[in-house]
Amino acid sequence: MRSYADGHCDTIVKIYERNQELFCNDGHIDIQRLKDFDAPLQFFAIWLDPKYYPISMHQTMKYIEFYYHQIQKNSEFIGHVNSYSDLLENIKNKKISGLLTIEGGEALEGEISAIHTYYRLGVRSMTLTWNHRNQLADGVAEEDSRGGLTIFGRQVVEEMEKLGMIVDVSHLSEMGFWDVTEITKKPFIASHSNARAICDAPRNLRDEQLQAIAEKGGVVGLNLFPPFLAKNKQADLADILRHIYHMLSVIGEDYIALGSDFDGIDSVPKEIRNVKELEGLFDRVEEEFGSKTAEKIFSKNLLRIVNQVL
Ligand SMILES: [Zn+2]
Repeated sequence: MRSYADGHCDTIVKIYERNQELFCNDGHIDIQRLKDFDAPLQFFAIWLDPKYYPISMHQTMKYIEFYYHQIQKNSEFIGHVNSYSDLLENIKNKKISGLLTIEGGEALEGEISAIHTYYRLGVRSMTLTWNHRNQLADGVAEEDSRGGLTIFGRQVVEEMEKLGMIVDVSHLSEMGFWDVTEITKKPFIASHSNARAICDAPRNLRDEQLQAIAEKGGVVGLNLFPPFLAKNKQADLADILRHIYHMLSVIGEDYIALGSDFDGIDSVPKEIRNVKELEGLFDRVEEEFGSKTAEKIFSKNLLRIVNQVL
């Protein structure tokens, strides 16, 4: 059995909206397929469609309740993780670990106390923005503004670090990224972003950004969305390997992780149509770079972040 740790998926929102189940559904990830891995760790993001921004907190609460309902229903197979010791307990019991995250600081509705509330509700990581501008910072789609973190955004980052939440810079503008590197003391992550040197998409990271994450001890999670893997072609496994090759040469094997973006993406690489087919990628990475490196990328590095930050 293979180990597996994935820093980003949108499964919870997707199955909520489709009235489906976490145990078995027609999306990219479900418990039935996760069970084939050795005590996997899955980050489950709550993402808000912009139509919900006027009722961000309200909608986030619905998704959080749904997440726990699904966890409870399947408690034989999966356990929610609030701490590293919860994760170790699940590993011991050969269970899947679920780590709850928020994608986009809109969920706070501008209230600093809300980050504490979400922490109490078991949220352990948050991307500061989605693509647009919010109360915390400018997202990647606002790049032209050259805007970074607001005062409120800085407060949120500080509170997150104090609480033991993982700061996630995926979707953040470049100025915002550099603001985060300046003010964080702990490792932070880009949960689902690739190398811009290989695929020049604004959601991907420049080499200097990859290096800054590594210097802080964080990780960059490989995103499987074809337009972030390769330009002007149907992305395949070889393209993912090119990103890994590049990241290995720039930051080494300790700072690369997986951030599939499964169930948040409407197309997938040719050979990897769902979580089960990741096995093919793991095999190739193992052949190419050895089992020690493969294990770090697909599990150990993200587990280290959970240990260090939570
Ligand atoms: Zn995303």
